[in-house]
Amino acid sequence: MANIILLGPPAAGKGTQAQRLVDSRGMVQLSTGDMLRAAKTSGTEMGRQVAAVLESGGLVTDEIVIGLIAEKLQQGAAGGFIFDGFPRTLRQADALAALLANHSLQLDAVIELVVDDTALVARVAKRAADAQAQGLPVRKDDTPEVLEVRLREYYKNTAPLIGYYWAKQQLVQIDGMAEMDTVSAAIAKVLDKA
Ligand code: AMP
Repeated sequence: MANIILLGPPAAGKGTQAQRLVDSRGMVQLSTGDMLRAAKTSGTEMGRQVAAVLESGGLVTDEIVIGLIAEKLQQGAAGGFIFDGFPRTLRQADALAALLANHSLQLDAVIELVVDDTALVARVAKRAADAQAQGLPVRKDDTPEVLEVRLREYYKNTAPLIGYYWAKQQLVQIDGMAEMDTVSAAIAKVLDKA
């Protein structure tokens, strides 16, 4: 059992790789983006509060996402947790360290999916087009304008976590531009060593 963070900009492939780990290893994916979108559609007070932020591509408050993660950690995960899209700020990273310590859990690796911006723009356009073609809902934040905001947020608030975890010797960088299976194999190698 291992607990890992998947770090990387929007559309780096975090969600896809997390889903594969859920299927192959019985890990539990904690995606704050999914939780926030669910809160939005379920019409909760918190969902109403965050709706506009989600659509703008900005970050919701640290308190909200830390609260969501704290709640999920209570439930435990025999196969380990995958933190997907969390932490996104240094405050969230510190809060996660404290929460894990409270549950006597350790963080085994922080896996950064390294991709380039041009590819991300193309990936997001493809994600939106694929969803539309299949009659699936298109994420409102998968537009070029909102992607730009999300990328800015990433570089301003989240990219500093790369240095933070590197200094803690927990960072593993993987080429996120490789084929999906190659990325999965590289992640599996990290997990097998953990
Ligand atoms: P994602 O599905 O990870 O791309 O997240 C979608 C949106 O949810 C982001 O653009 C943010 O508005 C919000 N969000 C998700 N995770 C976080 C987080 N850890 N901190 C702040 N906002 C978040």
